[in-house]
Amino acid sequence: MPRAFITGITGQDGQHLAQFLHDQGYDVYGMVKGQSNPRIAAVLEEMPFIETVPGDLADLPSLVKAIEVSQPDEVYNLGAISFVAMSFNQAELTANITGLGVLRMLEAVRMVGGAENNPIRFYQASSSEMFGKVRETPQTEATPFHPRSPYGCAKVFGHDIVVNYRESYDMFACSGILFNHEGPRRGIEFVTRKVTNAVARIKLGLQQEIVLGNLDSKRDWGYAGDYVKAMWMMLQADEPDDYVIATGQTHSIEDLVERAFAEVGIEDWRPYVRQDPKFFRPAEVDLLIGDPSKAKRELGWEPDVSFPELVSMMVRNDLEIEAKKAGIAL
Ligand code: NAP
Repeated sequence: MPRAFITGITGQDGQHLAQFLHDQGYDVYGMVKGQSNPRIAAVLEEMPFIETVPGDLADLPSLVKAIEVSQPDEVYNLGAISFVAMSFNQAELTANITGLGVLRMLEAVRMVGGAENNPIRFYQASSSEMFGKVRETPQTEATPFHPRSPYGCAKVFGHDIVVNYRESYDMFACSGILFNHEGPRRGIEFVTRKVTNAVARIKLGLQQEIVLGNLDSKRDWGYAGDYVKAMWMMLQADEPDDYVIATGQTHSIEDLVERAFAEVGIEDWRPYVRQDPKFFRPAEVDLLIGDPSKAKRELGWEPDVSFPELVSMMVRNDLEIEAKKAGIAL
């Protein structure tokens, strides 16, 4: 059986990818950090097939050990401080984990190596936040970067060091420049899940209002389940390369809010939504829209789930969770 090693297994994408690779017949190793991380038990309850391996992206020896123990054919580096707002408050930590963590993973893979005729293949989770103050629309693999947050800056370093290791050491290393992708496993701190969870709670009478930042911000939102498949496809290609993964369509936060409330039968959402400048970013990114035509042409990748289907899936999931917690029959 092929073996896959995933960092960030307790995150949204790590869980989707673990399930996807398991379904493809992989042995899945997931790196877990911390001495009593409560998310690990929850993930293992749902996916008991995952072999957990301790390690931290801040600690190279632990990464070398983790790769030695799991002997993977493929490494997916999804671990990161991934919340843009947090990166403004903890910029140094973000640079260390989201940026230098990539270098450490590449070094661990290079040091352990893999079989001579079967070198370890490496995937890096790059981000559309690298485009920030965009130089062209839509953004492609050739669009110059202009990050607008410590998170975006750290991702640019991670992206560039992957290119550098590929060119310097002939590693099979790829980066997926993924635009925003969401789903029922999205962390509650991210705006999509914050909205769908609040809408579910408002519908159930558990919450009065939702407080948001800039309703005009626009994003290219896809479904995480579609996007982890693209990660795997990159590592099955004949040559390593970088790919934009996106839907090519954009929606505002206001579109998201409107659609989420409509899903629970509330047409006039305005009385339930308040804006607070506290949630505005110090520097906002421009209109992010990805051009995924290279991934379509070279990998045969296309997204399956549309924006309305995504919002509906997330609202229905949050309704079930919140109703169950509150003991309300739906
Ligand atoms: P997520 O839900 O925030 O998960 C982040 C993961 O990183 C968690 O498992 C977390 O583990 C782990 N992590 C944090 N610090 C770590 C450290 N010091 N050592 C090892 N692991 C650490 O993120 P996601 O949405 O799944 O995204 C996956 C990757 O894709 C991230 O690199 C993200 O930046 C990137 N990305 C995401 C999107 C998106 O829209 N989702 C778009 C572009 C790129 P704990 O549970 O222990 O904290």
